[in-house]
Amino acid sequence: MPRSLVTGGAGFLGSHLCEYLLKKGHQVIAMDNLLTGTVGNIEHLQSEDFQFIKHDVTEYIYIAGAVDYIWHFASPASPLDYMQLPIHTLKVGAMGTHKALGLALQKKASFLLASTSEVYGDPLVHPQQETYWGNVNPVGPRGVYDEAKRFGEALTMAYHRHNHVDTKIVRIFNTYGPRMRPKDGRAIPTFIPQALNGDPLTVFGDGHQTRSFCYVADLIDGIYRLMMSEYHQPVNIGNPHEMTIRQIADLIIDLIKSPSKIIKKPLPVDDPKVRQPDIKLAKELLGWEPQFPIKDGLEKTIDWFAAVLGPKSNTSKNK
Ligand code: UDP
Repeated sequence: MPRSLVTGGAGFLGSHLCEYLLKKGHQVIAMDNLLTGTVGNIEHLQSEDFQFIKHDVTEYIYIAGAVDYIWHFASPASPLDYMQLPIHTLKVGAMGTHKALGLALQKKASFLLASTSEVYGDPLVHPQQETYWGNVNPVGPRGVYDEAKRFGEALTMAYHRHNHVDTKIVRIFNTYGPRMRPKDGRAIPTFIPQALNGDPLTVFGDGHQTRSFCYVADLIDGIYRLMMSEYHQPVNIGNPHEMTIRQIADLIIDLIKSPSKIIKKPLPVDDPKVRQPDIKLAKELLGWEPQFPIKDGLEKTIDWFAAVLGPKSNTSKNK
């Protein structure tokens, strides 16, 4: 039975990954310091094949016994979180990645780094291919996340080239689904509760900036395929269906049949104007492409938020 360690295992993506790995027959250790993750995300996974260890991966990681796969997902990941936790974000991307790679070397485990489309910054090339080196402001407020992930990629390649660790790097584009925190500040988990409550949806700037949103189940499937591949360079995983933020807000209002209006708020500093993954490489290499259209994924996500937020929300009366 393969044994996997998922750092950030109690977070949004980490918890979905743990669930997926258990279904694939892995023994799973979820490690998390619960800074932005929560035990509630993994409670339902309790079994003899699942273990939770509360630990901050910037400190030495000790695991008894064999480890076959290390999935390094620990990091604050929403702009609000990493702007409120700038030092933690830099430390986990740098020192946390170092500790996780050190463990991979010691255990002869395969290692996958959860990197990000933020390595492309505010991109001057569109859509973004893996060969694009990006346009990142290293000293802006987003730099703490972008540069930590860029350093993490460099360190991962160094462990691969110099220490011969079997490493993979996934560049994750905007992802959404159940278990996002309603207050994490990202667009979809902000808009859905706002629309469910009949509150105005806070669109930043003129709302013409674009993102391409991938449903979490698609993303996890792509990431699993990448880990099982023999490819060591970065691979984009995301849904290329590009929309403006205003369009996504309107679609959420429409699906919920909410009376909510849109209000405009200032655009955060260095907010990328466009973002769309080129997924040709993932298609060719992994035979992967997303299966969930945005409407289907949003419906599942809305149902989850409506259940979690409870009767205060006005979905049922409006549906
Ligand atoms: N955004 C918005 N209203 C919100 C939250 C986010 O208009 O309440 C915008 C944000 O400025 C960005 C886009 O939605 O242009 C996606 O933001 P998110 O924080 O989800 O992720 P990012 O892609 O910026 O990391």
